[in-house]
Amino acid sequence: MTKKNISILIVEDSKTQALYLKISLERQGYQVAVARNGREGLALLQKHFFPVVITDWIMPEMDGFEFCRTVRRWDFPGYVYIILLTTKDSKNDIIAGLKAGADDYLIKPVDEAELAARLNTAKRIIKLEYTLRKRSEEVALLSVTDPLTKAYNRRYLNKNLPLALRHAFRYEHPLSIIICDIDYFKKVNDRYGHQAGDRVLEEFSRYLMQAVRKGTDWVTRYGGEEFLVVLPETNLKGGYRAAERYRHLISKKTILYQKEKINITASFGVACAYPSEDGEEVKMESLIEAADRCLYQAKEDGRNCSVGVFAG
Ligand code: GH3
Ligand code: MG
Ligand code: MG
Ligand code: MG
Repeated sequence: MTKKNISILIVEDSKTQALYLKISLERQGYQVAVARNGREGLALLQKHFFPVVITDWIMPEMDGFEFCRTVRRWDFPGYVYIILLTTKDSKNDIIAGLKAGADDYLIKPVDEAELAARLNTAKRIIKLEYTLRKRSEEVALLSVTDPLTKAYNRRYLNKNLPLALRHAFRYEHPLSIIICDIDYFKKVNDRYGHQAGDRVLEEFSRYLMQAVRKGTDWVTRYGGEEFLVVLPETNLKGGYRAAERYRHLISKKTILYQKEKINITASFGVACAYPSEDGEEVKMESLIEAADRCLYQAKEDGRNCSVGVFAG
């Protein structure tokens, strides 16, 4: 983390104080913005994230106390480190400020060397918080991702498909799911070995994830060589079309494993939950069962095809 990418917000009603601080900070290489009171400060923070805020205590419209308390209540993309500006004999203000959520304080007139030292502490804390946040985001993502195929896992599906269904029913929108199963996958393992089978699964998942509508549709590994795609806002016709599109795409690809060229096909079962005014909410289990029955039918029909149905 460099000084250049840390931007600092000064919240200070005195123009001279604000200018003095701005010049010192810019001289130290920081990017700086100035607000004239707490309310303006909050407005700027909402538009642009500042990891460090240096705020005055006594200001018109919204003072430092109210400002600190509000910042601590709101959600930001990262931690906001607050340094309070106070006058020499204001011990009570300092205590109140720290209680309201400030992390540190500086006595006016601000000494430039002290300012630099306090900002070093701020940077240490910000860096630590950033590392921890990234780590915990990584762990959270790992806990819902299948390690081999990088698709979401069953845990993610069990949590998010019921949410997506509830949302669809509340707004009376359709939702489709597609279950796809690789045809004769056992033969891939038998002929080329288990590692080749794993490679096929990885590639299959990659094709599928590339093929789905970005930002709305998502892929889970439902079982060994079975994947389930969730398509919100999609009626049966749309779901069936999507399945056919995936199927064509996959049947055209050749997967390379060492010197082997492996071609595969897959079968698709599509089920659509369509809310009607008097209709009951379709449960995840019955939607999956419906798609599973279609998949079974697609296998019966000779594989490398799609079958769809309304569920519920
Ligand atoms: P069908 O066309 O009827 O779907 O035939 P299939 O051979 O694909 O179906 P079957 O269910 O008989 O076989 C699935 C195989 O998938 C069996 C299992 O060993 C294999 N499999 C499941 N998970 C993995 C995995 O993670 N890696 C590898 N390499 N194989 C797996
Ligand atoms: Mg003031
Ligand atoms: Mg299977
Ligand atoms: Mg199979």
